Amino acid sequence: MQTVDYRHLAVAGVQALQPYQPGKPIDELERELGIKDSLKLASNENPLGSSPKAVQALQQALTTLAFYPDGSGYQLKAALAKHLPEHLGLQVQQFTLGNGSNDVLDMIARAYLGSGRAAVFSEYAFAVYPLATQAVGAELRIAEAEPAEHQYMPYGHNLANLLAKIDEHTRVVFIANPNNPTGTWLKRTELQDFMQRVPADVIVVIDEAYTEYVEEPDFPNALAYLDECPNLIVTRTFSKIYGLAGLRVGYAVSSPEIADMLNRVRQPFNVNSLALLAAQAALQDAAFVQQSVAINRAGLQQWMAACEANHWPFIPSVGNFITLDTQRNAAAVYEALLREGVIVRPIAGYGLPQHLRITIGTQTQNQRCISALQKVLQA
Ligand SMILES: *Cc1c(COP(=O)(O)O)cnc(C)c1O
Repeated sequence: MQTVDYRHLAVAGVQALQPYQPGKPIDELERELGIKDSLKLASNENPLGSSPKAVQALQQALTTLAFYPDGSGYQLKAALAKHLPEHLGLQVQQFTLGNGSNDVLDMIARAYLGSGRAAVFSEYAFAVYPLATQAVGAELRIAEAEPAEHQYMPYGHNLANLLAKIDEHTRVVFIANPNNPTGTWLKRTELQDFMQRVPADVIVVIDEAYTEYVEEPDFPNALAYLDECPNLIVTRTFSKIYGLAGLRVGYAVSSPEIADMLNRVRQPFNVNSLALLAAQAALQDAAFVQQSVAINRAGLQQWMAACEANHWPFIPSVGNFITLDTQRNAAAVYEALLREGVIVRPIAGYGLPQHLRITIGTQTQNQRCISALQKVLQA
């Protein structure tokens, strides 16, 4: 039989993909090292666990598993329209539900990108943007970020550079606010100005995965611009503040026209019935959200104090993670931390080979990681 290279047979965009590198699972580390009680601060998961209201809803939902989920996700969309905040007057037809918000990002690429088209995003932007773009054969246009020496937003997005990368082939701009893995963010005035300058035939995706954590007074809620900006898509997730990363549920809010296109490429039952019910219950759990914000605020302060005391340079963050400059090859630091039972996230794949991204945990978890880091960096 003829020998065929089945890698070579894949479409060019897929052959060029660098697979997404997730945080190392606790099970895997413990299996490899034969250790117990390790700590994962690698995937921006909620250290308080899941919304208790969501967990309660899940227990009741277990009796419904023989049925297909509601493919339209009507109840969750209606609950979101009411919740986000009601005065915005969002309509059910403006929502697209995803198997995590990554699924929605993929739908955006399939609906609006493809060969001959380009997506623009910043250096150090979230890894899923290039993956979704390349997989559909579209071109990547990467705008230079702010320099490490920038006064208040080192490694942050530079909107003028993003605008300069837009040309007649550009159909999508991806911006995470705040951005992962840098924790940097855009002010209301900056985002408004950007939206005014972007051509109307370019879709702007504002990825608000961490928005619930941000307490800066001039931080924008991009949902407020949907009325004026028909080219805007806002994405959000239940993976972070609601503590439901394992269930996979997120969503996009856009004009009804864009939502119509995204829903055409959506898999019929992409969000499972447990995820739909848990997400709807989690929305009602204001107490859990408040607690999560409070523990994150305290943890960010704890980390910043530790960084200053230990002279560890860091990127100022408004997310539920902090990115440190280890001032050496971070791969070795990452490995040494693993041997201490602490999993963090190396981000060499983002062009930051000296940095580590660390999820904000509980006070005790943070202290364990800080102590391990002191030990490893002094060794
Ligand atoms: C974590 C994260 C998401 C959420 O991904 P899910 O698929 O919803 O779990 C989206 N965007 C960014 C920038 C993230 O960091």
